[in-house]
Amino acid sequence: MALRTPEEYRKSLRDGRRIYMLGEKVADVTAHPLLKVAVETVAQDFALTESNDPEIRNLFVFPDNETGEPISRFFKTPENTADLEKRSEMIARSIRLTGGLPFGKDVGTDCLNAVMVVADQMGNEEYKERAKNYLRFIRKNDSAMCGAVTDAKGDRSKPPSKQAHPDYYLHVVDKQKDGIVVKGCKMHITSGPVANEIIVTPTRQMREDEGDYAVSFAIPANAEGITMICRPGRGEQTPYEFPSGAPVRTLSEAMVVFDNVFVPWERVFMCGEWQFSMLLAYTFASFHRFTAISYKIPIVELIAGCGVAMAESNGLEKAGHIRGKLAQMAAYVETLKALTRAAARDPIMYGGIAMPNPLVANMAKLHFASGYHNFIQLVQDVSGGIITTFPTYEDWNNPDTRGFMEHYLGGSDKFTTEERLRLIQQTHRWTASAEHAHMEVTTVHAEGSMEAQKMMILLEAPLSEYANLAKQMAGISG
Ligand SMILES: Cc1cc2nc3c(=O)[nH]c(=O)nc-3n(C[C@H](O)[C@H](O)[C@H](O)COP(=O)(O)OP(=O)(O)OC[C@H]3O[C@@H](n4cnc5c(N)ncnc54)[C@H](O)[C@@H]3O)c2cc1C
Repeated sequence: MALRTPEEYRKSLRDGRRIYMLGEKVADVTAHPLLKVAVETVAQDFALTESNDPEIRNLFVFPDNETGEPISRFFKTPENTADLEKRSEMIARSIRLTGGLPFGKDVGTDCLNAVMVVADQMGNEEYKERAKNYLRFIRKNDSAMCGAVTDAKGDRSKPPSKQAHPDYYLHVVDKQKDGIVVKGCKMHITSGPVANEIIVTPTRQMREDEGDYAVSFAIPANAEGITMICRPGRGEQTPYEFPSGAPVRTLSEAMVVFDNVFVPWERVFMCGEWQFSMLLAYTFASFHRFTAISYKIPIVELIAGCGVAMAESNGLEKAGHIRGKLAQMAAYVETLKALTRAAARDPIMYGGIAMPNPLVANMAKLHFASGYHNFIQLVQDVSGGIITTFPTYEDWNNPDTRGFMEHYLGGSDKFTTEERLRLIQQTHRWTASAEHAHMEVTTVHAEGSMEAQKMMILLEAPLSEYANLAKQMAGISG
């Protein structure tokens, strides 16, 4: 099969999976009013790989090195800077082309790349072979995947073995001749309800007495014992909103419950090797933060664009303090882009696999997350209060009120009143809506909270070299 069409992908989701949302069991995710938006968002990935434009196809597709068949570039294990740069470009480009991230292969391949690094570091030939076979499987089936890393965690001050019950972290409850049985719950899993495959890795370092929690495996999303409870996303464009240039693209996250799920041995990549749990979590985080910073770039470009265009529509693009704010916005966006390029250009090689530079990838993610709210404030500031108080498209279409809106809501003569209102709608969506509140929390927590990035920066940064220089200058020996 190797490359699927969007329709083949949609059809594959009608597989008896157990999905709940808003108190009801979802019969068919592709027909559900909210979940189908996530389905169509991920389906865009399959549309891009069948693009007739050779430039787009070359970016999203590459020939399988074993079979020669065209496959999704997401399934290319990065071997060098060029591969990482292509992956980053592909992720950013998918948002620019489709209006939202088709998050159907990104997190899953971040997990699988980390699994392959760690199998190699363990020197475990069996795990290496299983990971390779699994890569062959997803390449052949063109699987949409999610990555399930974050556990429910219970009392955060306690390790897995000291929790009120043993299931706050996913763990092995039985080892059988043909496989293992696992129990637990992975939280906030992006695209879980619309994935074909779930790949699971540990979220943290496990201790010697926590071997059952050091477990990694892959499982179909419709496997017996899996139940997903989903966040209701925003859904399609409403009649209240001024029309936008593209359909709504957005994803859905779910808590994924594993209630005594059987996993065959050939899909198990770690089982008990607690000494390597930290390396797996760390390697995943390096791959995944690189994915994160890559997809954040077009988002912050778009939001900065709202600020620039709103300043123009207000007739203020030349005002001194507005220019100062536009400069701050540009510096925020361009620093993220520069750091993302740098993370690809200086990878750490593990065997033949290129891992994005962990220090730089974490610096980039921390820059993004810690500066985001200030960046949004700048856009809100230059745009004006209208981005949260403007009347709706329905009022625009009502003859009783349209005349007043036309008369009073104009701005610079470079824009018609309707164009200005469409721009206000976009700026509202990205900086002032309920959807944006979700994005603000996503910024802080998705791909790991800021403390997780600081921990990795502390591990990687040459702090003692800094101190040695200071000591040398202070005349302190030793
Ligand atoms: C929109 C979204 C999408 C996501 N997608 C995915 C996904 O696809 N796959 C996936 O696996 N995960 C996903 N995540 C999960 C994400 O990685 C976590 O939210 C993140 O790691 C933080 O974990 P938490 O939410 O449990 O917060 P918590 O761990 O509860 O953190 C809350 C605060 O407590 C601090 N804290 C936590 N533990 C300690 C401690 N022991 N000591 C001191 N301070 C502590 C944290 O630093 C933070 O400041 C997603 C999250 C979001 C919001």
